[in-house]
Amino acid sequence: MSKIQVAIIGGGPSGLLLSQLLRLQGVETIVLERHTREHVEGRIRAGLLEWSTVDLLNEAGVGARMMREGLAHDGLELAFDGRTHRVDLRSLTGHSMMVYGQTEIQKDLADAHAASGDHVVWEAENVAIHDIHSRRPRVTYTRGTINHEVECDFIAGCDGFHGVSRESIPKEFITLHERIHPFGWIGILANVPPVAGELIYVNHERGFALCSMRSRSRSRYYLQCPLDDDISNWPDDRFWDELRARLPCEHANGLITGSSIEKSIAPLRSFVAEPMRFGQLFLVGDAAHIVPPTGAKGLNLAAADVRVLSEGILEYYHRGSETLLDEYSNRALARVWRATRFSWWFTTLTHKFSEETFAHRLQLAELDYIAESAAGAKAFAENYVGLDETPRQAR
Ligand SMILES: Cc1cc2nc3c(=O)[nH]c(=O)nc-3n(C[C@H](O)[C@H](O)[C@H](O)COP(=O)(O)OP(=O)(O)OC[C@H]3O[C@@H](n4cnc5c(N)ncnc54)[C@H](O)[C@@H]3O)c2cc1C
Repeated sequence: MSKIQVAIIGGGPSGLLLSQLLRLQGVETIVLERHTREHVEGRIRAGLLEWSTVDLLNEAGVGARMMREGLAHDGLELAFDGRTHRVDLRSLTGHSMMVYGQTEIQKDLADAHAASGDHVVWEAENVAIHDIHSRRPRVTYTRGTINHEVECDFIAGCDGFHGVSRESIPKEFITLHERIHPFGWIGILANVPPVAGELIYVNHERGFALCSMRSRSRSRYYLQCPLDDDISNWPDDRFWDELRARLPCEHANGLITGSSIEKSIAPLRSFVAEPMRFGQLFLVGDAAHIVPPTGAKGLNLAAADVRVLSEGILEYYHRGSETLLDEYSNRALARVWRATRFSWWFTTLTHKFSEETFAHRLQLAELDYIAESAAGAKAFAENYVGLDETPRQAR
């Protein structure tokens, strides 16, 4: 049996970022990831970062490429009722957002680990957690045909929504809150220039649409679709036609289309598990919470958890205090619930729920309030750029 200070389950963005931050401060970690590095890096997911996430990646020493290649966005567009309105995030909040794909963050983190010679165990199978309530919990796993056992001080469950960590907590000690939204998103990735310089969120009578991007030559577009829809119903031409139909004329006319390089349907779910600590096990990121992607909060919440947990673990090793670790769950959940509320609200504001005209008119009235009222715009912008529990430096 080997010994380590912190065992991290899951080599997604939370797991690798936590490991990187701890390693820089002299804490020994092992990361157990069930897939190959190539598989994890190939998953097309988030791409819009709050500035607090940008700061954290820079503090972790993995931000150089992001600062060179990422696109800072100072605003976004809301399209509704035949018009568009730009929300100037920067003037309203002092903060911008950064467009930089999760795939690239994943590569930057994995490169940093590889360069340091640190040990990420890719293709770790049968990962299991033991003795979470003792001061020396254990993690077992298989690599190839060999069984391994690791004793540690802490376990970080960074293994996403379908991981083993949350499942290891006895049901009577965890409360699960969940709402499944009655529609999904079909997303397409294509090597075409984005239709506009900033993101466009569209409330349309045919359904929601989002124009996003990963770079100046790679676009990411989404359409609201039925929950039980099948990808085979969406050849590229149908997707582009439907997107054009939902966009305001000035953008529809300028839309450049091309072959998709990725296409997928994702359900929209709100989910929170609390508390986020059980004994020596700490849940991090998607293992503890999922938000619908409308507010682009999933990856940013994961990074915020990592910041709070890394501070707690470092305080324990450097000053012998467990105060911050004891506060981890409450601190993380405060932010999680604010982001869950915003993501739910922004989803209800922009998506089509029924044919009911009353509900649609209420949406338009609320969007109009954001467009016309300084207070409405500021409340929206503050939530969009991320409500932090601690002040951040303005960019
Ligand atoms: C299809 C999709 C689209 C998304 N789009 C957006 C978006 O546009 N904007 C946004 O902000 N967020 C988006 N998200 C959410 C965002 O990607 C997540 O919030 C983010 O990936 C969370 O990171 P994580 O490290 O906590 O979890 P994950 O990225 O899920 O990483 C968990 C890791 O744990 C590994 N793992 C799981 N079980 C085990 C096990 N038993 N043993 C070992 N390893 C295990 C997994 O292989 C995975 O690598 C999207 C998510 C999905 C699924």
